[in-house]
Amino acid sequence: MSPTRMEQLFAKLNERRLEVRRRLLALEARADTGPDVDRATPIDAQGVQGALGEQERRELAEIDAALERLERHAFGTCESCGEPISPKRLEAIPETRVCLACSAGMAALA
Ligand SMILES: [Zn+2]
Repeated sequence: MSPTRMEQLFAKLNERRLEVRRRLLALEARADTGPDVDRATPIDAQGVQGALGEQERRELAEIDAALERLERHAFGTCESCGEPISPKRLEAIPETRVCLACSAGMAALA
């Protein structure tokens, strides 16, 4: 992978990291003020909110892990089969850990 491409991915990951953090902070701020009484179904809304926060936290952990891999130059290698992940796939999902074939295999198993 060229240094330029790595820099681009690094920037992209940092951008996504900021975006997810913003979303998470917004969710937490809303959670702090308690359930919105104007909403028709406060209990459902609360449940969805928890699930959303959970997803952001997972995404953040994936992005952090990807940044860490990038720093130790282990980025772009499939953690499952050890083959390089295609640049196209990395462009689309920079935080991915596995190549397209392994990802498809996992999806088939799930
Ligand atoms: Zn693989």
